[in-house]
Amino acid sequence: MRKSKVVLAVAVLLCSVLSADLVGAQSPLISERRIIGQSIEGRALEAFRMGDPKGVTVVVIGVIHGNEDAGLLITDQLVTLEIPKGINLWVVPTMNPDGTARDQRGNANDVDLNRNFPYNWAKMGKPGYWQYAGPSRASEPETKAIVAFMREIKPALGIWYHQDLNIISPGQGLEGKLRSAYSRATGIPIKRITGGRYTGVAATWQRTTLPKSMAFVVELGKTLNVDQAKVHANAVLNIASLLRDAG
Ligand SMILES: [Zn+2]
Repeated sequence: MRKSKVVLAVAVLLCSVLSADLVGAQSPLISERRIIGQSIEGRALEAFRMGDPKGVTVVVIGVIHGNEDAGLLITDQLVTLEIPKGINLWVVPTMNPDGTARDQRGNANDVDLNRNFPYNWAKMGKPGYWQYAGPSRASEPETKAIVAFMREIKPALGIWYHQDLNIISPGQGLEGKLRSAYSRATGIPIKRITGGRYTGVAATWQRTTLPKSMAFVVELGKTLNVDQAKVHANAVLNIASLLRDAG
């Protein structure tokens, strides 16, 4: 290999390490960057704070199922946006960095983190089963980290991205209105998710366990381009503003 090629290879490697390590962290709009926990393989669970620390708290989780990572495009866009007044936004690009790195649904223990949360937890499957719920409720370090973080920040609203059903389930009261507004802004239809058995689900844990906390899942489609990700990022800020004005 010629020397110039070696230099190029090192530069490319360095860039990819940096971009994998510091998702959006360069944005001047981020006021706080926090490591909220570590994955089994030692990857950082990162959270970025933006906007008004005294405002209504909204949290966005880009990825929980590692092979459903289109939400990363949305969190990448979010950290570049000016946050409207009165909104305290926390962005967690991925709560499953090992799954994201491996492009697999579960974490490095093959646990489906969206069956591992400590509300309505039930045994489900064994290691290798796609919805394996883990050996016990909140057994996984990634789940524990998010539970502790959420208990601390007490979000009024959480948005959890998945793929690829292209639906948002209907909700009730203000939460239902926020879901509908998100649906209108992005074109993702409101439709009930049916057929599955849903235990240990993160959004359900948040809604039922944290005080006055709303949460919903956005099932993105199979693909998402940058322009669509911008629409979604703006939809997050729109419904955060609706929530602020409702309070
Ligand atoms: Zn999912």
